[in-house]
Amino acid sequence: MRYDMDGIRIYRGINQIGGIVTEIKKGDHRVLIDFGANLPGTENAELDDDELVKEVFSRQEVKTDAVLFTHYHGDHTGLKNRIPEDIPMYIGRIAKDIMKIIAKDADYVKIKNGQADKIETPVIDRMIPYWRAGEFKDLNGIRIMPLICDHSALDAYMFVIEMNGERILYTGDFRAHGIPGEKNFEKLVREKIGKVDILITEGTMVSRVKEEAVNPIRTEKDLKEKAAEIFSRHKENVVLVSSTNIDSVMGFYLATPRDKAFIVDPYQARVMMTAIEAKHKYFPDDYRYGNEIYVLCPNENDYCIKDLKEHMIPGTQRKPFHMARPDIYLDKGFVMLARPNRNPYVSTGKFEERLMAMKDPHIIYSMWTGYLKGGKAEDPSVVEFLKGYKPENIEVLHTSGHAYVEDLKKLMDMTCPDIIVPMHTESAAAFKEPELFADYSDKIVTLERGDMLGICSGLS
Ligand SMILES: [Zn+2]
Repeated sequence: MRYDMDGIRIYRGINQIGGIVTEIKKGDHRVLIDFGANLPGTENAELDDDELVKEVFSRQEVKTDAVLFTHYHGDHTGLKNRIPEDIPMYIGRIAKDIMKIIAKDADYVKIKNGQADKIETPVIDRMIPYWRAGEFKDLNGIRIMPLICDHSALDAYMFVIEMNGERILYTGDFRAHGIPGEKNFEKLVREKIGKVDILITEGTMVSRVKEEAVNPIRTEKDLKEKAAEIFSRHKENVVLVSSTNIDSVMGFYLATPRDKAFIVDPYQARVMMTAIEAKHKYFPDDYRYGNEIYVLCPNENDYCIKDLKEHMIPGTQRKPFHMARPDIYLDKGFVMLARPNRNPYVSTGKFEERLMAMKDPHIIYSMWTGYLKGGKAEDPSVVEFLKGYKPENIEVLHTSGHAYVEDLKKLMDMTCPDIIVPMHTESAAAFKEPELFADYSDKIVTLERGDMLGICSGLS
């Protein structure tokens, strides 16, 4: 491994999805992008988390000026507690708010389990929100421009990096078929990125082409339309969706028919209103307060509504939340966003118990199918949640958080890179396979984990 030259090094995440850490180095300074944990179920991880931390921070001669997080998913931020305290960390302002909501419950569980040293809130509090998107900041000769992009996490970023006369696009996780992507992806690339010398791109979907070929849902818009159709046919709708996959959460909310109650737990209510408050100005049709939001309160005690007092319907002084009363919603019909309960100490919606009171719930599964029984990364809590329901009661309705191969091709066409470095994919070498990428096959460079892609000074 060479440490003396300038360039880009991917410490982890070339031939695996998640666990990402990338370094941009110039002289004796560097910037790190992401500091993620390996995803549960990662087979043949390139490096375990302890080895990774040791490798990244063992060299004292390089000064780390910043860690830039692309977004809040654990496979990009999961090892944040292991970053030395004197290194500034950056993340999107709204992403930080959402991380704090997530950490609140998780920290409570950790304290109960005697792991107070592992709590995350103080680390998130130290994170600095990005400077203005679309503007460069110079960090000792490494110029960085953050750009807000579309992903299944709200407030996600890609970066244009300029150093030694080269222009680099580091995509992070992105897609073009969510709410911001469908409207703005091409505009963003055309107006803010343009031609680059090096494209470092995620390639999750290159290893999921077959899976996606059988999915009739392409975009978040498709998902919302299909959800409306399903909700009108069934009285009791239970949707299993990731609480921070905001585009889908908003789609399910706004697809709920007027005559049915839309129900979430307090945690999901807080995440939703944080997203609406931050984004309704930019996407008024998709991030808006629609019908009433009913909140599941433990023991039907309204303290949980009082606890959400900081939230108001945007532009009004009215409160957005009402308490969900089982006798009313079971009678009226509903759409309930649910999650398997992984935390015995946290009063989440207790969804499994609530399902038992339902007569004929129709379950909409809106997560990656790999978590299902027999899937690539079977998740025992998902399997347990769905146990006992017949296949005809479960419907898969999901769209990926990652760019389709067609959109990766579009990005290549629009940025005209001389070098393409794939990462965040099961096999970087497989990037040379899609027929669509044929024009670029001689530009695709598959790095070895930990190797430096040199960007020589003096070439400019
Ligand atoms: Zn992600």
